[in-house]
Amino acid sequence: MTVRLRAHHLLCLLTYSGKGYSSAFTTNLDSVADRIQLGEEIVVVSEADDVCAPLLAESDVHCHRESVMRRDDVAAAELSAILGYSIRPGTAFRMDGELITTMRDAFVAGVTRSACSGCEWFDLCSTTAAAHYVDARLTARRSPSDSGSRSTIRPAAVLQSARALPDDPLSKLSFP
Ligand code: SF4
Repeated sequence: MTVRLRAHHLLCLLTYSGKGYSSAFTTNLDSVADRIQLGEEIVVVSEADDVCAPLLAESDVHCHRESVMRRDDVAAAELSAILGYSIRPGTAFRMDGELITTMRDAFVAGVTRSACSGCEWFDLCSTTAAAHYVDARLTARRSPSDSGSRSTIRPAAVLQSARALPDDPLSKLSFP
């Protein structure tokens, strides 16, 4: 199985703490976070994703709006800058403790917060990040050998956990 995620949801998962639009939404997002925690592969998509799924039956669901697509574009650009490879549709990777920590360090420093502009959850996410993500469902600690210790942003440190999908012409990632 693969977790399909639009780019800005890579940010949302860093601070997700069980709160959301509905119980169906949070139940689903709990499951998505747990799958990522267990090392399931993530593939970046440019449309409604596995997080959006419980909302898609609603009329005028916000997931399809241009503003949300722009949020994805901004998140992808800022994440690409800190990770050192392109986050775009087709990019596939797994989250490990080091990657989560790298992304969280950038998030709490404000380096990847442009996509959050205007989001109704902004203050909650800021509070969770400022509290060192202790309330977040996704943890940077996955196993005894993965201590989840905090680190500074090291763009090259996560590249070994990323790969391009073989049939995706956009995923020409540059590896060190
Ligand atoms: S502020 Fe909004 S877009 Fe940013 S991480 Fe939180 S929920 Fe996601």
